[in-house]
Amino acid sequence: MLDVLVIGRGPAGLAAAAALGERGVATGVLGPHGPVRWPARYGAWADELGPAGLEDFVEHRWPETVVGLGGGERRVLPRAYVRVDRDRLAESLVERCERTGVRRLDGAVVGAEHHPAGSTVRLADGEVRARLVVDASGHRPALVRRAARPPQGFQTAFGAVVEGPVPGVEPGRATLMEWDDAGLPPSPAPTFLYALPLPDGRVFVEETVLVGRPAVPLEVLEARLRARLATRGVVLPAHTERERCWIPMGGALPDPRQRVVGFGGAAGMVHPATGYLLARTLAAAPTLADALAGELGRPGGTPEGAARAGWAALWPADRRRRHALFRFGMEVLLRLDAADTRAFFAAFFALPEADWRGYLSDRLPALQLAGVMSRLFAAAPARLRRRLATPALGPNGVDLVRSLLS
Ligand SMILES: Cc1cc2nc3c(=O)[nH]c(=O)nc-3n(C[C@H](O)[C@H](O)[C@H](O)COP(=O)(O)OP(=O)(O)OC[C@H]3O[C@@H](n4cnc5c(N)ncnc54)[C@H](O)[C@@H]3O)c2cc1C
Repeated sequence: MLDVLVIGRGPAGLAAAAALGERGVATGVLGPHGPVRWPARYGAWADELGPAGLEDFVEHRWPETVVGLGGGERRVLPRAYVRVDRDRLAESLVERCERTGVRRLDGAVVGAEHHPAGSTVRLADGEVRARLVVDASGHRPALVRRAARPPQGFQTAFGAVVEGPVPGVEPGRATLMEWDDAGLPPSPAPTFLYALPLPDGRVFVEETVLVGRPAVPLEVLEARLRARLATRGVVLPAHTERERCWIPMGGALPDPRQRVVGFGGAAGMVHPATGYLLARTLAAAPTLADALAGELGRPGGTPEGAARAGWAALWPADRRRRHALFRFGMEVLLRLDAADTRAFFAAFFALPEADWRGYLSDRLPALQLAGVMSRLFAAAPARLRRRLATPALGPNGVDLVRSLLS
């Protein structure tokens, strides 16, 4: 019997399996038949690469980042941004798994039964037994359960690679957000352009909803991207690389008493205000592996105890409080129209650099994060301040207070 079965060979699954293998834990990593191929392309802040062990996997680096606030107003952020070389990262994680004896298993999980000594995971064609199961099967997890309330929001995006240059997209800078929406067809939620000028002269352009509920359909985003490009004299080619993005954000944290430990998207680790997950997940893999290896290797250690230790390592009290604050921030964004969203980001990026960096990075302790949020509130124009305060008066405010006190 395996010590740990990791479900999923995305970034989370492979990082967890490699870290467990490196600690001498008998680990198997399960995913669909065939070579590991990740569909998404990952971006990250350059200053987050170190803790995530990503420094050697940079495909391209932009030394500065731009935020467009409409009407030609722009902020240049002195913060470098990178695109991660996903293929080399996947190869490296697979190689670390192989080197440490992690067993590769192919199949699709359909269910699991748990007993005191371990779990039996049912596959479409067979079963696997392990003392503990780590579910890293992404945003629609195979086994991890989460309550339906508070409800999630959804980041959706439609992206494509076009021939450059794209007027308005500066060649040497990553455009994090361009909120100008003049001349675009309607959308149920504000959208922005994310654009990465690539070294070969092409440009990756993506129309993105930071957060919507319900999810803004990809067709709406595609139509807006086409229209946005048309205003700049750029046509979306018929045959070009496309990216379709659907990321659930916020919502309830998974119940830490369940016998399966989640990791990555399956554990709700996505940043509820930005949709980012990669750097945080890779940085957390050693922490998770230490917790599981410690409990499973301890005389008298149990699968139940290991599951508790795993959840506690991923979601310590302060992180749970931060999640509640970010979730509140997400509820605020969900209520803003395009003009208010532009005003929000104008105020946000006018905060001291340490404040907006900390908020976007998910590295500030809850108390400091609350400080950033109150400084933003104080700096916002009066009309926006009323909007920001509204969610505090309803169930979201109650939820926030309850989470902060728990
Ligand atoms: C298009 C897109 C772009 C993104 N861009 C960024 C970005 O730039 N930066 C960032 O930080 N985040 C980004 N994200 C968010 C997040 O980083 C990704 O969703 C990330 O891939 C999640 O990693 P994961 O390993 O948790 O899940 P996944 O990458 O989804 O991997 C899950 C794996 O589990 C397997 N699996 C699923 N169900 C089963 C089952 N029943 N049995 C066996 N195997 C199963 C799947 O085949 C898959 O291999 C993006 C997401 C998307 C969708």
